[in-house]
Amino acid sequence: ALPVIYAITPTYNRPVQKAELTRLGNTFRQVPRFHWIIVEDSNMRTELVARFLARSGMPYTHLNIFTPRRFKRTGMPRATEQRNTALSWLRSHRSRKDVGVVFFADDDNTYSLELFEEMRSTRGVSVWPVGLVSGRQYERPVVEKGKVVGWYTGWRPDRPFAIDMAGFAVNLQVVLGSPRAVFKRRGSQPGMQESDFLKQITKVGDLEPKANNCTRVLVWHTRTEKVNLGNEPKHRQDSVVIEV
Ligand code: UDP
Ligand code: MN
Repeated sequence: ALPVIYAITPTYNRPVQKAELTRLGNTFRQVPRFHWIIVEDSNMRTELVARFLARSGMPYTHLNIFTPRRFKRTGMPRATEQRNTALSWLRSHRSRKDVGVVFFADDDNTYSLELFEEMRSTRGVSVWPVGLVSGRQYERPVVEKGKVVGWYTGWRPDRPFAIDMAGFAVNLQVVLGSPRAVFKRRGSQPGMQESDFLKQITKVGDLEPKANNCTRVLVWHTRTEKVNLGNEPKHRQDSVVIEV
């Protein structure tokens, strides 16, 4: 059977949340052997997300953990606790027998279906380009003779792994076999989450380039504009209560 793709999506309540999840679900639903791990940044699993997942028609796991308030400041890495909660879930619910690939899928990015077929053959850690990130059209691992030898990036090329969260996948057995590998808060500089994590599980020379030796963009670091709710009435005017 095909390896299962475990996509880890941190998500938080805001006006566009359900729209983002709907867009993502419409993509992910088309991927065979796919398991969606949604981790809400919230004190509890909300009705909105629970109902959404129940109706999505795909295999999922619904988790939650609230980011401590002291970590919710600009310039601080986002969704560290949520990604780690998903990793813990995998470590306690999956075993040596399970064949899979783990991928970090933020809720606002744009994913092509081809990306999932590329990452499915990940034996250790695989990498590929990401569009619309680092102040450039794309960022990508530079590949020579099938090996990653450097990074094409517009931002901090000194990073040990100059790659976005959407630019790599990890074999499930690597996640299970490195039980202490986590996303760090302590000692982590902004933008170093990916490097800090990847350092714990691989070396640059061992990375597996995908997407035609990292020459195709199959995922985009899109960001959704903040919604204008300036005309919302102060008190409810409509006769019905609608989930948006
Ligand atoms: N996120 C979260 N809690 C927050 C902010 C963000 O769980 O307080 C999630 C968000 O839903 C997304 C991921 O963390 O899946 C990355 O956040 P964002 O897309 O805002 O980061 P950026 O695009 O700036 O890297
Ligand atoms: Mn984003």
